[in-house]
Amino acid sequence: MKVVIIGGVAAGMSAASKLKRNLKDQVEIMVYEKGGEVSYGACGIPFYISDHIKQGRDLIARTAEEFSQSGIPIKTYHEVLKVDTDKKTVLVKNLKTGEEFTDSYDKLVIGSGAAVRHFPPFDQAYENLFEIRDVADGTRVKTALFDENNRHVVIVGAGFIGLEVSEACRRYGKEVTVVELADHILSSFDQEVSEALEGEMEKNGVTVKTGCRVTELKGENGRVTAVILQNGDETEELPVDILINSAGIAPATSFIDTVEKARNGAILVNERMETNVADVYAAGDCSIMRSGITGEYTYAPLGTNANKQGRIIGDLLGGVEPKPFKLIGSSALRLFGMDAAKVGLSEKEAKAHGLDYKAHTITGNSYASYYGTEKLNIKLIYDKATRKVLGAETWGQGIVVPRANYYAIAIYAGLTVDEMGFMDLCYSPPFSGVWDAALIASNTAK
Ligand SMILES: Cc1cc2nc3c(=O)[nH]c(=O)nc-3n(C[C@H](O)[C@H](O)[C@H](O)COP(=O)(O)OP(=O)(O)OC[C@H]3O[C@@H](n4cnc5c(N)ncnc54)[C@H](O)[C@@H]3O)c2cc1C
Repeated sequence: MKVVIIGGVAAGMSAASKLKRNLKDQVEIMVYEKGGEVSYGACGIPFYISDHIKQGRDLIARTAEEFSQSGIPIKTYHEVLKVDTDKKTVLVKNLKTGEEFTDSYDKLVIGSGAAVRHFPPFDQAYENLFEIRDVADGTRVKTALFDENNRHVVIVGAGFIGLEVSEACRRYGKEVTVVELADHILSSFDQEVSEALEGEMEKNGVTVKTGCRVTELKGENGRVTAVILQNGDETEELPVDILINSAGIAPATSFIDTVEKARNGAILVNERMETNVADVYAAGDCSIMRSGITGEYTYAPLGTNANKQGRIIGDLLGGVEPKPFKLIGSSALRLFGMDAAKVGLSEKEAKAHGLDYKAHTITGNSYASYYGTEKLNIKLIYDKATRKVLGAETWGQGIVVPRANYYAIAIYAGLTVDEMGFMDLCYSPPFSGVWDAALIASNTAK
C-alpha cells in the first residue's frame, strides 16, 4: 500500500508515525511538505518569541532526516498543487527547482493545516508586517523584538496566539497594543472570562482596543509606519514598528476540489477522519468534524486535535481499530498572572445552539485556604433536564487548567453535575481544600 501525506507537522506526521509503527515495511509512505521544517510544536512559538525557549530548534521534535532514516521519507519544499481523486494522483512542485511531477497513491492523507488569512489591508507585503505559523515566523518576530529601535508593537486579532504573543512582546519592554474587532478578546469564552483577561493585560501594560477594525496601513520605504483603526465613527492612528497579523486563519485546501468542504474551506470528515471520497482522509487544521456535544460541524484548529486525528488515520490505515475520539474543543492559555481554560460549550455557545441549559459560577480557593491565597472561578454550563455537564470555564490563579480538564471528562462520559460533586478526587492542602473547588462548583449547581 502506498500512502501519500500532504503536510509534515502535527496531523501529517502523527498519521505517518502511527502508520509506520503499525505496518512497518508493509507500507510505503511519502510525505510532501511545502515548508522547510517538519514536526515542530507550533504551540511553543509564543514562548520561543518571549525567549523562555531560547532556540527555535528546541521546538522541533524530529527532523525530516530523522524521519527519513526511520523509513518515513519526507520531501520538504515540495508543494502539492493538485489532487486528482479519480486517477489517485497528486501534482507536486519542487519549490527549489521549479520542477513539477505526478505521484500516485492508494490512500491519501491531507494534513495541510491552515494559513494566516491575508485580507485587506493585510494583503500587501511589508518588511515589518509579520504572521506567526511556523518556527521561521517566530524567529523573524523575535529578531525584530531584539532591535531596540522597534518600540511600538500592534497585534491584530485577540485569539489565543495574538494574546500569548502580546505577553511575549511586553517581556521586551515594548509598547504593545492588541486590536480586536469583536467586543471582547478571546470571543469563544464568555464575557466575564474575557473581561478578567483584559484586566490582566491592562495591568501588565498591554493596551487592548476592542470593537476596532484596521482599515488602512500607512507605509514608507516598504515598512508600515502607522495603523488606522476605526471604531464606529471614530478613527485613530497608531504608530507601529512591528505589526503582527493574527486576525484569522484559513484551511489550506485549495489543491483539492472533489471533497466536501465547509464554508471556510475545511474538509468535512467523520470521527474516523474519512472524507466523502474513498481513500482520502483529512486531519488537523485543514479539516472539520462534528462536535461531540452538539453534533454540529465545529472548526477546532488545535494541536491537541491534530495529533489525535492524525493518529486515528495511522491506526485505521494500519488495520487497527482507532481509539474513540470526541471533539470537545478544550483549550487553555496563560496570560501574565492569570490562567484560563474552556472545555465544551460556553454559555453563549449553549444559547446560540438553543439548548435548555443552566449556568452556575463560583469563586473558590485553588489550594487549602490556610496553604495559599490564590483564587479561581469556575463557571459550569449543564443541561437543565438531564443535569449533564455541557461546558466549563475556569479562570484565575493557581491550579486552574486541571479543574477544567476534570469537566472535559464529565462531558466526554456524559456525567451529571451531581455525579461530579462526589467524585473521589485527590486531596492534600497544596492541591485543594478538602472539598476541591470543582467539587464545590458541582455540588452548588442547583
Ligand atoms: C503560535 C501558535 C500557537 C499555538 N498554540 C496552541 C496551543 O497552545 N494549544 C493547541 O492545542 N493548539 C495550538 N496551536 C494550534 C496548533 O499548532 C495547530 O492546531 C496544529 O499545528 C495543526 O497541525 P496541522 O498538522 O493540522 O497543521 P499545520 O501545523 O499547519 O501543518 C500543516 C503543514 O502542511 C503544509 N502544507 C500546506 N499546504 C501544503 C501543500 N499544498 N503541499 C505540501 N505541504 C503543505 C504546511 O506548510 C504546514 O507545514 C497553536 C498554533 C500556533 C501557530
